[in-house]
Order: sequence, then C-alpha cells, then structure tokens
Amino acid sequence: ATDSWAQAVDEQEAAAESVSLNLHDKAAQSLLNKLIRNNLVNNTNQVEVLQKDPNSPLYSVKSFEELRLKPQLLQGVYGMGFNRPSKIQETALPMMLAGPPQNLIAQSQSGTGKTAAFVLAMLSHVDPDNKYPQCLCVSPTYELALQTGKVIEQMGKHYPEVKLVYAIRGNKLPRGMKLQEQIVIGTPGTMLDWCSKFKFIDPKKIKVFVLDEADVMIATQGHQDQSIRIQRMLPQTCQMLLFSATFEETVWNFAQRIVPSPNIIKLKREEETLDTIKQYYVLCNSREEKFQALCNVYGAITIAQAMIFCHTRKTAGWLAGELSREGHQVALLSGEMQVEQRAAVIDRFRDGKEKVLVTTNVCARGIDVEQVSVVINFDLPVDKDGNPDNETYLHRIGRTGRFGKRGLAINMVDGKMSMNILNRIQEHFSKKIERLDTDDLDEIE
Ligand code: ADP
Repeated sequence: ATDSWAQAVDEQEAAAESVSLNLHDKAAQSLLNKLIRNNLVNNTNQVEVLQKDPNSPLYSVKSFEELRLKPQLLQGVYGMGFNRPSKIQETALPMMLAGPPQNLIAQSQSGTGKTAAFVLAMLSHVDPDNKYPQCLCVSPTYELALQTGKVIEQMGKHYPEVKLVYAIRGNKLPRGMKLQEQIVIGTPGTMLDWCSKFKFIDPKKIKVFVLDEADVMIATQGHQDQSIRIQRMLPQTCQMLLFSATFEETVWNFAQRIVPSPNIIKLKREEETLDTIKQYYVLCNSREEKFQALCNVYGAITIAQAMIFCHTRKTAGWLAGELSREGHQVALLSGEMQVEQRAAVIDRFRDGKEKVLVTTNVCARGIDVEQVSVVINFDLPVDKDGNPDNETYLHRIGRTGRFGKRGLAINMVDGKMSMNILNRIQEHFSKKIERLDTDDLDEIE
C-alpha cells in the first residue's frame, strides 16, 4: 500500500512538472535548442511550396552568390561558416529578397536555418543611410529576442552602419525620442507600446515585419493580440514574414491573420524509425532491482554514452546519486535548473565529459543528442493520464532515416502496470521488444 501511495505522489509530481512545461516552457525549450545547437539539423525531405501566384517562376538557389547580396553581407554569411543555403533557405531566401517584396509563411523544425534566413532578409532590405527603424522583428520572450539579436550582430559584422535596438521591458527610453536604429527586435507588448503609445517608432516607415516562433507566440493570447495590433499599423507595402517550428491549426489561423496573401513553404520533420534499434525489456520488482539490472548491463557491455530517462525528478536525482557511488561520471538534467544550466549540462555530455546523462522526461523533450547509442527507459514514458506516450518513446530512441546509426534501447519494467504499458508500445509500433535476462547477458550487443 505504501508503494502505491508513493507512486501516486510521484505521479502527481510528474503531472505538475508537465503542466508547468505547457505554461512557460515552450519558450524555454526553444531557447534551449538554440543554446545547444551549433549546426543545421539534417533533413532529407523535400520543401513543399505553395505560391501566392502559381504562374510566377519559382526560384531556388544553391549558392549565396546567386542571391546578389551586398558584399558586406556575403562576407558576414561566410564568416559564420555557412557554405551554402540550407534546404529551407534555398527557397525562402529568393522569395524574401526578390522584388517586389513577397510575404512568406515558413514552417520547419528548429535548427533548419529559419533565423539565419530572415536575419539576412532584414539586413538586405534596410537602408543604412536612413536613420529610422525599417525592420521590426517580434519574438515571444526577451531571451529569444536576444538570441536573434546575436545572429543579426554576427551576420552584420561587416556592415556596422546598420544598427539594432531591443524593444524589451526594462529598456526605458526618454519620452518624445525617435529611434535611429534601422532594426528593432523585441517582445510584442513593448514593440506595440513603442509604435503606438510612445511613438519611438513610426510604423508607416517599416519595410519588413518578422514574426518569429509563431507556435510559441500563440501560447499567450496577449501576444497574439499585440502582434495583430502591430501588424495593422504597418503599411500595405510592408513585407510580412512569419516563422514557426510546428504548424497546428491554431498556428495556421494566427499566421493567416498576420500575413496577407502569403507564399507558404514547409519542410516536414524527418521521420524517426525504430528499424535500426534493438529494443529490450528487463523485468524487475522494484526501483532497487531496476538499478541492479542497470549495473549488470553496465558490467556486461561497453557503453560509450547512455541517456537514462526517469519519470520524476526525485527518481532521477536518486539514480544519479547511486550511479555516481558506483563510480560513473553522471550528468543530471533536472526541471528546476535554469535553461542556461541545462544547456551547459547537455554541452558537457555532448563533449563526452560525462558518460551517462540522467534526466526526467519533461526536461529532455525535444533534445537531440545524436551520438548516444544506448537509451535506457528507467521508467517508461507515459502521458498525464498514465497511458503510453508513444511519441516520446519514438523520439527518445528512434533514429532519423539514413543518418541513423544502430542503437540499443533497454526498458525497465517493474510490475503489471508498466508491463501493460510496454505491451501497448510494442503493439503500437508493431516491433518486438525482447525480454533480456540481466543475469545472462550474452545475447546483447
Ligand atoms: P532555426 O531558426 O530554424 O532554428 P537557425 O537559423 O538558428 O535555425 O540555424 C540553426 C543552426 O544552423 C545555427 O547554428 C546556424 O548558425 C546554422 N546555420 C544556419 N544556416 C546555415 C547554413 N546555410 N549553413 C550552415 N549553417 C547554418
């Protein structure tokens, strides 16, 4: 009885954790991805294009030279180590840079080059001789705005005449002042105030309006309303650009209100598959037995790096402690950590400084650590109702198409309930998960 009570408490804790994710962590997740990503994600899918005017020719470029960028900008692009446009950039850049300006809605997962694309568009369209704002870019949070600002600074390194200012709470300007910077980047509330209440910006002079992270933006009703109010103040001729990592109905409805007669481009996420993964389960009776089984696995096979997933912070903390005591170098990723701290932990793990990463489900959502060959579900992934979370299972252990190395997944099962979950996961993917006897581990590897 105590066990089931303890489990109930654990469940509650996990549920609370996932609720708090929904409230503010969409933005944190996105920031985390930016902090840990230092190159493009691989994607072999085709870009889908829906043109406003299907009769106009569709350009796509294979090199940055073809875009006839200002030399200072081409230098900036190469300075960042970009050799050729990313998939989404091949199509998006010509649409954004060709005259007359075209509106664009673009969707692709994070890490595919959207930010770099619209930063290049903004820098190309400003006239540095005009000392007033010409491009507005709104982001859901201060931190995300800063990240985009950094990209503007990097790409515009050789184009110092173009200046940038942050429209964020806390950046207080004297009344009656007129901004001289060509690019303004900020959060919707402050941006709106600067355009209307304080008139630091003359919205009629804006040539490019960018709305970034639309899917994060719509999580806050206020942000939607403010963005729409900004958009209404802009001239008809202003180029409207909207970017999103995902594209649910709600994002789409919002996008259409922000961007009139758009071109639309989409790049589907690379499908993940379990085909190159060996899946096992281990039958145990308690947390301690699960830990013992884990030790046996470690004793039997060489594991370069492993990620271990737990349901709650408490279990994750406990397990990390036990593993350290066994002499493992363990990294722990936990919900109460700041985004920057989490990014630092993941960076260290990616550099191989630690060999084991213990984490909760919530924390690790959306994180890709590609080189990890062994994934251990110390607890199986379940949603808040206790049903199998197939999507998380797939994302955790699945590999994308042809970049997939072979992998090993081990699921710890401790009782009827988790056995039931495992069976349902197995059925869902129609892929056998084999029983592993951790007292006799010859079969594995
Ligand atoms: P997104 O906005 O879709 O998340 P980013 O523009 O931030 O994507 O790009 C993801 C990562 O890839 C960044 O580290 C960025 O510097 C890099 N990157 C972007 N475009 C290119 C490119 N054409 N070539 C190489 N790297 C690129």
